[in-house]
Amino acid sequence: MDSKNRVSHTLEDITQALRFLADAGWKGFDCSNQSLAKLKKWQQEPVRLSGTLEDIRADLGDCRRCKLSKHRTNIVFGTGNPRARVVFVGEGPGFDEDRKGEPFVGAAGRLLTRIIEAMTLTREQVYICNIIKCRPPRNRDPEIDEIQTCSPFLARQLKAIAPDFIVALGSFAARTLLETTVPISKLRGRFHDYAGLKVMPTYHPAFLLRNPDKKRDVWEDMKKLMQEMGISDEIHKKRKT
Ligand code: URA
Repeated sequence: MDSKNRVSHTLEDITQALRFLADAGWKGFDCSNQSLAKLKKWQQEPVRLSGTLEDIRADLGDCRRCKLSKHRTNIVFGTGNPRARVVFVGEGPGFDEDRKGEPFVGAAGRLLTRIIEAMTLTREQVYICNIIKCRPPRNRDPEIDEIQTCSPFLARQLKAIAPDFIVALGSFAARTLLETTVPISKLRGRFHDYAGLKVMPTYHPAFLLRNPDKKRDVWEDMKKLMQEMGISDEIHKKRKT
């Protein structure tokens, strides 16, 4: 029996046991119709803990789980190598990403591409996604219920890709992944842990567009990442001489 069927059988057993207890007049168990209906729903939509990126995208479907779905044009799931060694995680889609259904394709995205290429990598070699998959209206910050609803899909994406490294782009991604309120300026520049993966928080490319003097810090962070990944930055040293 595969795991999907096992979950389904277990839920059926629990439902029957609860129904039996309810019919027999037992108190102290949650045998309400509401709970039984919830179990029934879980059975129809068995909870998959990981799966491939295609499975996760299929489970997301035409997502209506949170209020962001009302305003979006496209779900922005993520793009790149499903076996990437490094995943770049941003905040959420903006105007261009919402239109195209791809992450980081606007001005901030072009800068991110340059950062990735400066690391001697390509967008096709890495994976790029966001904390939330739909654009918040007027690019406002994502709200807690939206993050809670969407983040299990990101967790599954990261589990499916199983990268060695994550780059958390900006305060929002870093704080969400690391479950902290520490400012990005204090988090960046050193590795942190997310489910056994090494996380390098750094400034968001959109922030760099407004504060170009911070590009040096991001490059320092990326050099640390390259060193940990075993990528040489000799090419850049040579260019300087
Ligand atoms: N900013 C983000 O955080 N993500 C995108 O995909 C685009 C802009």
